[in-house]
Amino acid sequence: VPSVIAVDVGGTSIKSALVDEAGGLARRRAIPTPVADGPDAVVDAIRRAVHELLADDVVAVGVVVPGVVGPEPGVVSYATNLGWRDVALGARLGADLGVPVLVDKDVKATALAERTLGVAHGLRDCLVVAIGTGIAAVAVSGGEVVRGANELAGEIGHICVDPRGEACPCGQRGCAERYASAAAVARRYAARAGVLRPADEVVARLAGDPDAAAVWAEAAEALAAMLASCTLLLDCTLIVLSGGLARAGEALREPVARALAARLAWREPPAVSVSPLARDAGVLGAALLAWQNVRAGAG
Ligand SMILES: [Zn+2]
Repeated sequence: VPSVIAVDVGGTSIKSALVDEAGGLARRRAIPTPVADGPDAVVDAIRRAVHELLADDVVAVGVVVPGVVGPEPGVVSYATNLGWRDVALGARLGADLGVPVLVDKDVKATALAERTLGVAHGLRDCLVVAIGTGIAAVAVSGGEVVRGANELAGEIGHICVDPRGEACPCGQRGCAERYASAAAVARRYAARAGVLRPADEVVARLAGDPDAAAVWAEAAEALAAMLASCTLLLDCTLIVLSGGLARAGEALREPVARALAARLAWREPPAVSVSPLARDAGVLGAALLAWQNVRAGAG
């Protein structure tokens, strides 16, 4: 079956799979992202992930990263959570593969998957929020994706929710992603409880662990404050929570929707939904982008 290699590079793990044109996933893999070993180690890990899946029926490669891609195609100009600046990822991956390599921004892939296969299908005014190691979003307004003058629209993880809050690597204080990303939940739980647990373990402990409950409540409040700002600007009908943290399901959706409604008391709040694609949205979106690229090349 003709397939593309789809790779979703996160700040914590690199997820990959072979994806056929109907969206069928095969040979799924996830390896840790070696961020601590430096920018080149991350590139090498992506190379290995791609080569491991390379086969005769592979027609293209789609790689999505948590950062800013372009203006030059294939060049990641900035990715905070990978420690990258101006990494020519496309050239470094593509040299010996023999198939086209497409590099794009992860949240763009997530939003494409949610709008093609997920709950945002057909909506004219919605916000797709990817919550993983960081937080970013794609806004759809009047049926069009909001890109901005420099393709920088949607970096909502750096909306300030506490002007005197925690310092963020972006240079500001109190950014939403310092409280509500999957990495932040793990880090803030460790600071309180003295035990390092990934975000999904913190979620699993909500019922009986006051530290888990406190960290989670702060995360939900930070997300609600961030999403209230987005709603005031965009007036969307639906907010889709996607990415790794969305695997928490109702445990995430309910407190966020409740806190958002409280912050928007004067108006009807948008619906909040948790993506059923969640963790796979990035890989599926990377595949959709790669397939689009293949069809554009053929046509
Ligand atoms: Zn920030």
